[in-house]
Amino acid sequence: MMAAYRCPVCDYVYDEAKGAAREGFPAGTPWQNIPQDWCCPDCGVREKVDFEPIGAHS
Ligand SMILES: [Zn+2]
Repeated sequence: MMAAYRCPVCDYVYDEAKGAAREGFPAGTPWQNIPQDWCCPDCGVREKVDFEPIGAHS
């Protein structure tokens, strides 16, 4: 099951199922494959580590 992660500042969402084509991540790219130093493409002030998982079932 694909997960999604949200920027706590601007609410940009990275959805694994959709990827982020403009960032160079094809659809289906898992979160673990995103570089640790990747910054939010919308606000640019938050990095991967700051993103919050959404839609996850615990
Ligand atoms: Zn952001």
